[in-house]
Formats: sequence, structure tokens, C-alpha cells
Amino acid sequence: MSGPAGCDLCRGTEDPKPNRIGGLDLCRRCYDGGAVAAAHARGFGLWVKLSAIGTDNPIFLVRGTASVPRPLFNASFRRKGPRSLLAAMFGMTLRVQDPLFHELGVIVTRDKARTRRFIEADAAQSAVMDLLGEDVSVTVREGGQIQVSGARKHDPFDQSAIERELAVLLVHLDGYAP
Ligand SMILES: [Zn+2]
Repeated sequence: MSGPAGCDLCRGTEDPKPNRIGGLDLCRRCYDGGAVAAAHARGFGLWVKLSAIGTDNPIFLVRGTASVPRPLFNASFRRKGPRSLLAAMFGMTLRVQDPLFHELGVIVTRDKARTRRFIEADAAQSAVMDLLGEDVSVTVREGGQIQVSGARKHDPFDQSAIERELAVLLVHLDGYAP
């Protein structure tokens, strides 16, 4: 809105036209492939790997791990599937206001109070939605570890988009105060 702002990920570069993603402003360098390096420079773990099974009708896979140096909460933000339906049956799902969120996925947790404190912030919620929109599920552990995973047909995953969106999520998680 006003003058040039710093980048919310690397905190270094001033960019007159930052890219808004997941409630944060990212400079061009972080947006265009520099997200992993910027996350590592902040002391976050971030590693994402793509693979595929089969050649004729391949199934594309993504796996990743990340971490922030602070206590978090126990929750999974999952694309809908048989496991998430089962969790709903057992009362382990958490609802938020935004119906768009629930079109993309479900929140599975027994740690509802702490999870709610995180996911009720709009910016954090949009960061999780970005990853769900890439067909990526996210699991957060109270020790500060994060895992991402996904499998789909037809389209390979976009590694740099997932890295960027995961880095943004880590910034939000790093600001979490239980
Ligand atoms: Zn940056």
C-alpha cells in the first residue's frame, strides 16, 4: 500500500513490487526459486523431492520434510480421501469458517485447541490452502517437524511452487505462539 516493503521470507531485499502469497510479501528472488535458500538462512529445514512411478500412466509423487526451531502442535491438513473420511467419523476433524478451505481438504487433529490457534489466522489458513491446492497434504508435529506428501495422476507437481508455499507456511509456523 505505501512504499517498498521488505521481503517477509528473506527479510533482506527491498522489492517495489513484491509477490503476495499465503499472506506474505515475497521478493522476486524468493518467489523465483530462492525460497529454499532463504528458508535455510533463517534456520528452517526445507527439503522437497519429486518422483514418478510407471511410464505409460505415471503416478506423480511429492515428498518433503521441513522444520522450524520452536514447539508447534499436532495436526494434519489433508486432501480429501478415505483416510480423512475415517478421521471425520471418529470426530478428529476441525472445522474453520471458510467453506473454500473444506472444498480443498480437511484438518485432522486431536490437538484441537492449539491447532485452532494457528489455523484461525487468515494468512496461515491461506498458506495451508495454497499447498492443498497443489494436491499436497501437510502434517505438523509438536516438536517442530513438518512433512508434506502428495500423489496424483496426469500432472507432475510443481517443485518450485511447493517449495515457495512451504517456505511461506514455515514463516507462519515460526511465528506460532502456543
Ligand atoms: Zn526474499
